[in-house]
Amino acid sequence: MVDVGIIGAGVIGCAVAEELGRRGASVVVLDAREVGGGATQASAGILAPYIEGHERGALFEQGLQSLALYDDFITRVESSSNRSIEYRRCGTLELADSAERARTLCAGAEARQDGAAAEWVPGPAVHELEPCVSAEVLGARLCATHGYVVVPELVAALAASAQSFGVTFHTHAPVEDVQPENGGFCMRTTAEEIRVGKVVVCAGSWTSWLDIADELQGRVRPVRGQLLRLRWQSEPLRHILWSSACYVVPWVDRTVLVGATAEEVGFDERATVAGVKDLLGAVCEILPSAWSADFVEVRVGLRPASRDGLPIVRASERITGLFFATGHFRNGILLAPLTAVMLADQIS
Ligand SMILES: Cc1cc2nc3c(=O)[nH]c(=O)nc-3n(C[C@H](O)[C@H](O)[C@H](O)COP(=O)(O)OP(=O)(O)OC[C@H]3O[C@@H](n4cnc5c(N)ncnc54)[C@H](O)[C@@H]3O)c2cc1C
Repeated sequence: MVDVGIIGAGVIGCAVAEELGRRGASVVVLDAREVGGGATQASAGILAPYIEGHERGALFEQGLQSLALYDDFITRVESSSNRSIEYRRCGTLELADSAERARTLCAGAEARQDGAAAEWVPGPAVHELEPCVSAEVLGARLCATHGYVVVPELVAALAASAQSFGVTFHTHAPVEDVQPENGGFCMRTTAEEIRVGKVVVCAGSWTSWLDIADELQGRVRPVRGQLLRLRWQSEPLRHILWSSACYVVPWVDRTVLVGATAEEVGFDERATVAGVKDLLGAVCEILPSAWSADFVEVRVGLRPASRDGLPIVRASERITGLFFATGHFRNGILLAPLTAVMLADQIS
């Protein structure tokens, strides 16, 4: 019998599998799609707790803790996978594109002079830092500790690292049923039955489709996000830029990601004209040189949103041996290292 069966090979399933494998457990991961083929493939990979955890609640604290793990996490995964991962702590600039936003960002920067490294940068200095930013921008809040990771590289490396510890991945293997059996579980796909000691549900937006997860019924819903990738033809951008209508992530290969829509449209994973038009309009507002960029692609993902916006990382309240790591909404990439450790600690 395999020690742990994981349903879902998104960033969360891969990170949990890698951590458990590293600790010596035998692990099998099943996914209906490719590795990282759910919300994860559409992610911008931004690591920005000071922006995402607007108020200093649990999400903010978890984001900070996870960000603090990131340097070691990347070094470790690169080393055990023998792959490199683009990961840069290049900082975020939250652009003030209105007087009201300038007041809010400026006040926020002052309130956080407690080691958070957020500072207000006036308009002329913003244009020195980022010459492509529109002259209309009044200033920006700089958070130098923020960064990004290139998600396809991270997920490929996590899977390779997990495999180096003996974890096996079964892709195009939708789990149709999970039944408690002899103190463990029987996981059934169309092609096979696998017996495992424990089960971790990392099924993202599809969590409540699994009967075994009925205690989470209605607790995780999909929120569609569309994300563009452009090839930048102007002076390179140095920071992650964040306006009131979009964000921009500059990769080393001179493509940039522009995200993201947030749409309550159920399980509809289509890219739409409206989504693409809105994002293109928003990026051209803050970066007029975006007009000359090449259009590379649009990606779409369903963010798994929990009711209270917090991830659900815990043991089942009803079934011994069943665990959940889901509901990471807008922050699954940021929270992956912390989630993996929290879940593995609970299982061990
Ligand atoms: C446009 C966009 C931008 C984003 N930007 C950021 C960002 O900048 N920073 C950040 O931290 N986060 C970001 N996110 C959020 C982040 O992508 C998600 O929180 C994260 O990917 C969730 O990972 P997951 O593994 O829980 O879910 P998923 O990646 O959706 O993985 C779940 C997997 O479970 C599989 N599955 C489901 N049911 C079954 C079943 N019955 N049997 C087998 N397999 C099953 C699915 O096929 C899927 O592969 C963004 C999301 C989107 C959409």
